[in-house]
Amino acid sequence: MTPKQLDRKYLARESPPEDLVVARAEGSYLWDAKGKKYIDFLAGWCVGNVGWGAERMRARIRKYRGPDYIYPYYVYKPWAELAQLLAELTPGNLQKCWRATGGTEAVDIALQVAMAYTGRRKFLSIEGSYHGNSIGTVSIASTEDRKPFPNLLQGCMTIDPPLDAKAADKVETKLKKRDVAAFIMEPISCNLGVLIPEEEFITRVVKSCRRYGTLFIADEVATGFGRTGKLFASEHFDLEPDLLCVSKAISGGYAPLGATITTRKIADAVAEDVGFYSTYGWHPLAVDAALANLRWIAAHRTRLLAEVEKTSDYFRERLTAMKLKPPGEVRIRGMAIGVETGDGEYTQVVADRCRRKGLLLTTADNTLTMFPALTIDRETAEAGLDVLERAL
Ligand code: PMP
Repeated sequence: MTPKQLDRKYLARESPPEDLVVARAEGSYLWDAKGKKYIDFLAGWCVGNVGWGAERMRARIRKYRGPDYIYPYYVYKPWAELAQLLAELTPGNLQKCWRATGGTEAVDIALQVAMAYTGRRKFLSIEGSYHGNSIGTVSIASTEDRKPFPNLLQGCMTIDPPLDAKAADKVETKLKKRDVAAFIMEPISCNLGVLIPEEEFITRVVKSCRRYGTLFIADEVATGFGRTGKLFASEHFDLEPDLLCVSKAISGGYAPLGATITTRKIADAVAEDVGFYSTYGWHPLAVDAALANLRWIAAHRTRLLAEVEKTSDYFRERLTAMKLKPPGEVRIRGMAIGVETGDGEYTQVVADRCRRKGLLLTTADNTLTMFPALTIDRETAEAGLDVLERAL
């Protein structure tokens, strides 16, 4: 059987896979099984922030001589080292970490902590957003995604974009009853086609949260580790969330891992109520990969983020000069890029055309979304944008 036939027979999926059998990846390129080369403007959807095939990461994993596994109730120094590094890198006063295997678990932990800390059950999120695939995270997802599941967490409300002063008023109205455990959002929403809130929205929501005793959860699973041109998207708004969730680029794609970070005050207050035992949460090999990746990012952050800014300017310049179907709009922060191209069907046609011509990107409704590696070079960016321009 061919890989595609095997896939069709044994993998449960919501829709057929894209027509791409991956053989290998290097930097910002992917090759399929027939040797066709693709420019990767997706980076596994905000995972490969430092590019594929980094020799330092591969060597590190090859040379790993640490333990095969550690029982979560034992002490393991690299766990503490990774938690310490996350406390240093993340914004605000976030000091303590729960160990998770990925983004969904990290967000679910944040929701449970918020419930335990506040003694409340309700949540408020942004309509259309995505935060994971567990019962808890689906409960706070878009109304559409919840439809097949009538008995999710009750009292999960959403606010419609655009995220402006009016939306902030609506948030305040919903928080006034003092029964909402947490407000959750991606500070810049990669899932909503790179939706960028107005600064006033964030400032006022933070104020409302503080006033009415609601926790602010920043889901930085997609935006974390440089994606939006700052190490964390929260930094664009001087946002100091109560809980911050990370995964994806934490290891650059080399191993699965997630984390939920909070203040010492919140972590200590709920310590007796919630445990979050996770058998594979922070597996030692994954921790080694994450430590190597984050130490590299920490050591190179100034240069890395300066490069992102330059490349981002180049993308903005090129994209805004392209002819877009009305109401075409380019939304870009760092290497989080959304290009609204008209209706959803046309957007998908453009994305498919790009793939056939050797450029990988994706869509969110009527928006083409691109999340290239932060390290993409100018020549590759230019070649990819040329393909996109022709496809449009
Ligand atoms: N939160 C956000 C913002 C995400 O984009 C995703 C995944 N796309 C998740 C949570 C869930 O992460 P995972 O797929 O690792 O469970």
